[in-house]
Amino acid sequence: MKIGIYPGSFDPVTLGHLDIIKRAARLSDELIIGVLKNSSKKALFSTDERVELLKRVTKDIKNVKVMSYDGLLVDFAHEMKADYLVRGLRAVTDFEYEIQIAQTNHKLASDVDTVFFTTSIEYSYVSSSLVREIASYGGDISGFVPEDIMEDIYKKFK
Ligand code: ADP
Repeated sequence: MKIGIYPGSFDPVTLGHLDIIKRAARLSDELIIGVLKNSSKKALFSTDERVELLKRVTKDIKNVKVMSYDGLLVDFAHEMKADYLVRGLRAVTDFEYEIQIAQTNHKLASDVDTVFFTTSIEYSYVSSSLVREIASYGGDISGFVPEDIMEDIYKKFK
């Protein structure tokens, strides 16, 4: 049984995240999406809301589970008996940050590896912060997030 954890803020989940989720789930027996609770960033959605949105958009993927966690990611990984962490790489700008985190996690827990998925080209520029910014001005976010969560995002700015 191979268990992966895909951690992140997902504030909110985007089509880029969903693309990584689908591809990572195909290679995993179980994929756990870990929503970080105590992010230092000011969040638009509460942790519970982000979990709910993720559950909604992944409901048809049988081997995906959505949970929230706080504390060290490697502790959560051990608790879940996970074999690897999943992260997405969009551009070279992600690389420096991601390699540092991956190497740190591996140092903290040598049994936990990180696997990287390169983004599909059509979503390479999509980010949660971009979605929040466009939505705050009432712009069209239909190409960036799953359709069934669009209203939830717009509502936050009403
Ligand atoms: P964090 O705050 O931990 O970076 P995010 O929710 O922003 O959390 O991202 C979680 C993961 O998803 C990261 O590995 C990030 O690189 C990846 N990711 C974000 N947007 C995309 C995208 N458009 N395509 C592929 N991967 C992405």
